[in-house]
Amino acid sequence: MRVVISGVAGVGKSTILEIVKSRTNYDIINFGTLMFEMARNINLVRDRDELRKLPVDTQMNLQKKASAAIGKMNNVIIDTHMTIKTPDGYLPGLPEWVLRELKVASYYLIEALPSQILSRRQHDSTRSRDSDNEEDIRQHQEVNRYYAASYSVYTGATITFIQNIDGKPDIAAENIVRRLMPHD
Ligand code: AMP
Ligand code: MG
Repeated sequence: MRVVISGVAGVGKSTILEIVKSRTNYDIINFGTLMFEMARNINLVRDRDELRKLPVDTQMNLQKKASAAIGKMNNVIIDTHMTIKTPDGYLPGLPEWVLRELKVASYYLIEALPSQILSRRQHDSTRSRDSDNEEDIRQHQEVNRYYAASYSVYTGATITFIQNIDGKPDIAAENIVRRLMPHD
């Protein structure tokens, strides 16, 4: 089975995923890392935050290659994005051809208060984040819900919205873990 975990930059996804990984037998596969490695090999980018600024057709090409690789993996949690904010507008993270490749069973959309996301971005010096304000972050999270809904309609996959309460990534992780475990 393959599931998707997503959430805007700074939502706390990596922290939550670390906990989920330690409590399940799923492997975590980062879609952006695959794209980044493919792009770096041909000298297109030097860091992962340059990916979303590449020409859209180049991003789509890398996206296609990454999804072909991931579609062959089983029992994985795919760490990716519902939408990517490019200079040309929102790019769907899972356009129809990616959905067909990945056959995702369920989506988890991690969300948090825009003010907390903004503050986490400001304290993260390891990434070159966009200079979004709270309203931009609120809109991006809202847009991600629309895209998640359409992916779900296309495929019949379920969506769960997970709130990451500041300082309590454990609760968010547990909400995901209990859904990933076999149950009646
Ligand atoms: P992340 O570290 O998860 O923020 O991912 C790094 C970058 O990978 C993102 O900013 C995007 O440029 C790219 N990326 C990740 N997932 C996708 C996807 N499904 N489609 C297109 N680009 C993606
Ligand atoms: Mg991350």
